[in-house]
This record gives sequence, C-alpha cells and structure tokens, in this order.
Amino acid sequence: MLQKPKGTFDILPDELYKRNFIYNLIRETLSSFNFKEILTPVFESTELFKRGIGEETDIVSKEMYSFNEDKFTLRPELTAPVIRAYLENSLYNESPVKKLFYISNLFRAERPQKGRYREFWQFGAEIIGSDDILSDAEIILIPDLILKKLGINDFVVKINNIGNTEERTEYVSDLKTYLLKFENELSETSKIRLYKNPLRILDTKIEKEKDILVNAPLIKNYLKAETKEKFEKLLNILQKLNVNFEQDDKLVRGLDYYSQTTFEFQSTKLGSQNAILGGGRYDKLIELLGGKPTPAIGFAMGIERLLIILEENNFTFPKQKNPDIYIITSGEAAKLYSLNITNDLRSNGIITETDLLNRSIKSQMKEADRLKSKFVLILGDNELSSGIVKLKKMDTGNETDVELNKIEKIKELITN
Ligand code: ATP
Ligand code: MG
Repeated sequence: MLQKPKGTFDILPDELYKRNFIYNLIRETLSSFNFKEILTPVFESTELFKRGIGEETDIVSKEMYSFNEDKFTLRPELTAPVIRAYLENSLYNESPVKKLFYISNLFRAERPQKGRYREFWQFGAEIIGSDDILSDAEIILIPDLILKKLGINDFVVKINNIGNTEERTEYVSDLKTYLLKFENELSETSKIRLYKNPLRILDTKIEKEKDILVNAPLIKNYLKAETKEKFEKLLNILQKLNVNFEQDDKLVRGLDYYSQTTFEFQSTKLGSQNAILGGGRYDKLIELLGGKPTPAIGFAMGIERLLIILEENNFTFPKQKNPDIYIITSGEAAKLYSLNITNDLRSNGIITETDLLNRSIKSQMKEADRLKSKFVLILGDNELSSGIVKLKKMDTGNETDVELNKIEKIKELITN
C-alpha cells in the first residue's frame, strides 16, 4: 500500500471540519481588525527565500524543498511571498498602511515529531507601512484575542526588542567577542553561527551553552533612548490591555530580517515544541526585496500546535451535521420519483441522503440509522399509487402521513 510522505498528514473530514471552524474564527477576528486575506503561490523562486529569509537561517540552509535545478522552492514561510506580492502588485498605492493575513500550507524539510511536520499550516498577519507602536500592539492583540476566544489562557507572550541595525551591530560585535572566549565549548552548529550569525546562539537549547550565556552582554544595554522609549510605550499598552507578557532578554527570532520588537507566544502545555507563534518587526525586508524602505510587522501561528492545545483543553468543537432526512426507496419508479423530492429538499439546504447501492428497504433503514439521519421517508409502489408517504422521526419513532405532492409540508416538518 502506498503511503503519504513522512512528516505529512491527511486532513480527514472530521479534522477538516475542526480546522474550518478555527479558520472561520480567524477570518471573523481578522475582519474585525480590518485585515484582508491574501493567497500566494505554493512555490516561488528560490531567490526570494534566499534573499528574504537569509542564507544562514535553518530554513534556507537545510529545510527548503527546492526543484528545477534549485530555481523554485516550496514556500517555507509566508512573509517573504506576501511582501513579494505586495511589491509586485503595487499594493502600496491602495493605502499607506496595508493589513494582510493568510491561512496557508508551507513546507520545511525537518525531522518530524509531535507538533513538527514537513507540510504544515500557518495563519499569519502583516501590517505593512507603519512603524507606529500602535501597529506593534495591534499585531500582538490579534493572536491574543484569537487564543482567548478559543478559551486558551495558559500562554505567555515573551517579548524583546533587538534594536535597530546600528544598535544590533554594536551588540552583536560585543556578543561575538564574549562568545569567542568559549569557542571550544560550543557545539559545532554554534561554532559556525559564531562567525555567521552570533545572535542565533541566544536561541540555543543546549544547557551548557545556556550556562555560558548567563554572563553574556544583553541587547537591552545597547538600545538608545528612542528605541527604549518606544519599547516601554508598547509594554505599557500591553499591560493596560491585559496581555500576559514577559520580557525575555534572549528572545531572538530564527529569521534574519527581524528588528526592534520580537515576540513569541509560548504555551505552558506544548512541551519542547512550546512556541505557538512567532513574530516581530522587519523594517528592512521590503528594501531587501526591491521596494522602497517600508516598516512592517507581522506574526505567524502554527495551526497544528493550536489544534494540539485545543485537544489538550478538551475544547468542544462543533460536530459535522448528520442528514436531515434519508429517503428510502423501493422499486424503479419510486427511485426515479424520489429525485424530485431530493432535488427540492437539497436546493432548500436540507441535508438529504438516498440509497446509491440498490439495497433492500431493511438495509436502507439500517443505513439511515447508522448515519443518524433525523428523519426517514419511505417511498415504494404503494406510496406512489396512494400519493401518501410516511415521514418518520427517528429519535421518537413518530410517524406522520404526508401528501407526496406537498413537499412544503415535508420541509416544514423537517426544519421545525
Ligand atoms: P521553531 O523554533 O519551533 O522551529 P520557528 O522559528 O521555525 O519555530 P517560525 O518560522 O516563526 O517558527 O513559525 C511560526 C510558527 O509556526 C511556530 O511558532 C510554530 O507554531 C509553527 N511551526 C514552525 N515550524 C513548524 C513545523 N515544522 N511543523 C508545525 N508547525 C511549525
Ligand atoms: Mg524551525
């Protein structure tokens, strides 16, 4: 039997129903913030990701699915594609601030484990064109509201400010000098990062490296008055709006293009894969992709991780609907006639099922029961000649006689 590739999953109907419920809630919430939804191609030029994410990142250096002699790549994230689309379609002409969101699948060649897949889904939002602190606040308030609407309260927003380019350059240089003293004690990965992107070492999960970092210089001591003031303002707003945040001096994002505000929503429930979403400001990305300097901020939430939390919370998802009525037929004439009824009921939005296997009345009845149909209607030669059918309500067993040509009456009985 052929199997799906490792790290991928089928989304079966009941699961998709849950997802669509969440997607609707996301769409509703984003609409209340006046964001508009966007979709971009599943693959883009590899160059977009190399430039937009950075060659030193895990994503570009080892997680991309590229093909056609490396010309194209399955999207491993959505921010660079959204910005590409923003520039290519001149969306900046529509309004100085564009607020966009997406719900999309993406692909990363990672080691699969719980909450970590090779094809997975993200929902994310971007505010393009504003460096006002209110846009930072808005971007954090969106996922905060969505999680709270879903009854998720056991999360904390880890937040940091990694400064502007100048501030960060000075900091990174001191961080490197500090870490060089411990070079021999660093992992192979960190040794490489030490020369290519020392900031990323702060992200380490290795205990020994964490110990080394205890006395490392901190970015907050390199921030100038203007950055500090803005950050304080943001924290004040978040506090006033009851966002449960914690400052985290070592929070840096895996992607190169981040600056200033960076944040991560962490669940206390997810174990080692505890990040529900990550985000931050990326004021340099748009220039990097060929646009005019434009500030922007966004986040991306992992849908599967959200689903894991909801399952653990025993969240009650709405259930798929059962048929309203199962039309049981017997005989060729009845079968043909039943199509008039099913057609009419279906065009009125009534979920109508019939037998497609030419089964006996008894096994059609069994099937109606198995499908948990609310009503059954039995239509055979006798009913056709008398013009009267029995409509049976399955839970009570109550039967009502209805005239065959009074479909209105049937509808009324079913929907009441
Ligand atoms: P991590 O440190 O967990 O690898 P990341 O920095 O790669 O995260 P982002 O690229 O910022 O994560 O993606 C945002 C969110 O997408 C994450 O917080 C997580 O919820 C989800 N996510 C990331 N990688 C995967 C994956 N392989 N499978 C499922 N969800 C993922
Ligand atoms: Mg990752």
